Amino acid sequence: MPALSDVIAALDALWPPERAEQWDAVGTVCGDPDAPVERVLIAVDPVQETAEEAVELGAQLLLTHHPLYLRGTTTVFAGTFKGRVVHTLVRAGVALHVAHTNADRADPGVSDALAGAVGLRTTGPLVPDPTDPAGRRGLGRICELDAPEPLARFARRVADALPATAQGVRAAGDPDRPVRTVAVCGGSGDSLFDAVRAAGVDAYLTADLRHHPASEAVQHGGPALVDAAHWATEWPWCEQAAAQLDAVSQRHGWGLRVHVSRTVTDPWTTHAASGPAGAAPTTTGAPN
Ligand SMILES: [Zn+2]
Repeated sequence: MPALSDVIAALDALWPPERAEQWDAVGTVCGDPDAPVERVLIAVDPVQETAEEAVELGAQLLLTHHPLYLRGTTTVFAGTFKGRVVHTLVRAGVALHVAHTNADRADPGVSDALAGAVGLRTTGPLVPDPTDPAGRRGLGRICELDAPEPLARFARRVADALPATAQGVRAAGDPDRPVRTVAVCGGSGDSLFDAVRAAGVDAYLTADLRHHPASEAVQHGGPALVDAAHWATEWPWCEQAAAQLDAVSQRHGWGLRVHVSRTVTDPWTTHAASGPAGAAPTTTGAPN
């Protein structure tokens, strides 16, 4: 059975921490390097639900995509939600390790997992990492469908492929517009609009698109936009990471049991679609 330090070395080989963005906080948050690891849980978010899931599973390691602490802290007091996560994990002997923007930029990375889940073929990174001579690492991916399909059908494809969330999937642009080439970015993608425009793709699949960047992209005659829940766009990475860790475990004869959390930790829990009863904007007098 490997020690936590052995498993961390393997995780750092898959997603080297030095490839994370400067502002990011990746790596091991808690855990004893000498403790044996038999069971691992992989999740997007280090929140109370996934911490308790790791404890109930009998895992010794929780691997998450999002950091618990992005900025420095002076307390792990269990009266704070983050401190409570730390206490829940430490009390049960569960380590926490984070692979965030280092997993985004990796080959394969978070956007490869998203593209694969949706049935897209990846042709290369959207923003290549200049330190990769092979030109495969970087942020986002440029992808293709085997055959073009209307935007509305592509949005349906995304909604069917990703885990269900309250938000579902929304799209901007003519629903009949044909989509064949797609830029993909798991997680918040509106910082990559310039690269998406330069790539000349038919559609951009990402999450967290805000009104102004989306409106401007549409007004510029840019690609159609397909916006899914942030958590849902990153969840396929958990399965990809589990397969990668399984392969490492087999190579070393570790016998790790690697699990993927199916708990929906997207913060949005309710979606009310606008209906005929919705109030229409009006300039005339009082409603009757
Ligand atoms: Zn994210």
